[in-house]
Amino acid sequence: MADDKQYTFRCTVCGYEVTIDEPELPEDYVCPVCGVGPELFELVEED
Ligand SMILES: [Zn+2]
Repeated sequence: MADDKQYTFRCTVCGYEVTIDEPELPEDYVCPVCGVGPELFELVEED
């Protein structure tokens, strides 16, 4: 079946979390809470 792996990223500034199905956030992604770009998000490891 399809690989439905998802990736959760956390904003290191405000703690907002977003889950997408790609291993990287889009370059133009901005945090809806504090407005920072993807370079300030970190990948959250899930098990
Ligand atoms: Zn933020």
